[in-house]
Amino acid sequence: MPDWTELTINELQSLLTSRQVSAEEVTRAHLERIASKDSEIRAYLTVAEERALEQARAVDRRLAAGEPLGPLGGVPVAVKDVILIRGLANTCASKMLENFIAPYSATAVERMEQAGAIILGKTNCDEFAMGSSTENSGFYPTHNPHDLSRVPGGSSGGSAAAVAARLATVALGSDTGGSIRQPAAFCGVVGMMGTYGRVSRYGLVAFASSLDHIGPFGRSVRDVARLLGVIAGRDPRDSTSADVPVENYEAALGRPVTGFKIGVPEEYFKGLNPEIGDNIQKGLHLFGRLGCEIVPIRLPHTEYAIACYYIICTAEASSNLARYDGVRYGLRAPNPAGLRDLYKQTRHQGFGPEVKRRIMLGTYVLSSGYYDAYYLKAQQVRALITRDFVEAFDEVDAIVTPTSPIPPFKLGERLNDPLQMYLADIYTVTASLAGIPGISIPCGTTRGHPPLPVGMQILARHFDEARLLQLAEAFEREGGFHIHP
Ligand code: GLN
Repeated sequence: MPDWTELTINELQSLLTSRQVSAEEVTRAHLERIASKDSEIRAYLTVAEERALEQARAVDRRLAAGEPLGPLGGVPVAVKDVILIRGLANTCASKMLENFIAPYSATAVERMEQAGAIILGKTNCDEFAMGSSTENSGFYPTHNPHDLSRVPGGSSGGSAAAVAARLATVALGSDTGGSIRQPAAFCGVVGMMGTYGRVSRYGLVAFASSLDHIGPFGRSVRDVARLLGVIAGRDPRDSTSADVPVENYEAALGRPVTGFKIGVPEEYFKGLNPEIGDNIQKGLHLFGRLGCEIVPIRLPHTEYAIACYYIICTAEASSNLARYDGVRYGLRAPNPAGLRDLYKQTRHQGFGPEVKRRIMLGTYVLSSGYYDAYYLKAQQVRALITRDFVEAFDEVDAIVTPTSPIPPFKLGERLNDPLQMYLADIYTVTASLAGIPGISIPCGTTRGHPPLPVGMQILARHFDEARLLQLAEAFEREGGFHIHP
């Protein structure tokens, strides 16, 4: 009997339509694997066993009635615990929301369910998506399936680890400054952030609204293209979702990429781990073999990106997280000495150290007297970073960089040094600030034991997701970089 947990969406669906397996059997296989493996990986915060089996049986009934499978019919999916699913706990990996049940579903979740997806559960992450290792979870850290002593990346570490360890076929994460791309790189899977506005944020708990995205993880580019196609598109409930037609992403896959110009920014190759640098160079040769032209480019404002990102995201976070006051949502501290004390005790008890650090930083950069020096300045720098990309894309069709300057690190290694943790986001925050789409795909491994995944990031123009996926799929096919933990 094949292992139902290792299939791609297409493989799974052809077995389902030919009735060689039922959606219920596929779902049970995943639930059993979660039961046996997730005690060491800890990718999930909630496993929605009964709900998933009900969804699976509904898919089986539709198949028995001769109805077609939807684009995600029978596909087991995991969802980061910052994306609401009606009736399920939504904790944001925070004590603040430990007992919060979502009263409605995110648009992305509704669209997946309409497409026939089976939702297995909610995945672990850094608290309110703030972090790069999933160690800031208020409950427990997630472990990297390739080496359990290392982090899976973050903040969507649970979703990336679940897909890598075959505890789900695909998953949803959120990306504000790299939280899909970096854990995808660390776990050896594909992860993508579309253009800002490509996917509705309705039902995504806000961290930094001008930077937040929902996006897909998968073990292949084609699976990621399928999932993105389902969740993308205008949503009247999110005014920042774009009224731009959604291309047929899968139709773009397999077309030749000869003649594409790929820009390589020198700023992204300074001070990175040499083994990662070697792997990316090999990846660039591979693009050369595919007939792409490799062009050196400059993105001169890159060095200001970390400072700029951490001012803007903390400013927005301090405002978005003001709603957790002990009155409206989640935790309420017992026996307060008055209203002020209720706010104080609730926020003191409910938030972890990284969230508090960001609220304090954000409040500071927005305060009168400092606003111009920090927040306004950061907005100006953001415009310069965006302009760097717009100018680069006059010359090239795509930009290739490492996803992360470092391989997955040991649990605890960077926990007491927030600046070191922030610097790990250096290659991902720029695209977030510019609002352009980015994907991370596997690009070899380090030479140690066990070998650790290396991720390559590809960036493209606003709303050029189809070309991004086309390039990524050509690379995946030519390179055969499938890494099994
Ligand atoms: N690591 C970055 C941060 O801590 C990105 C987080 C994210 O994309 N949600 O803010």
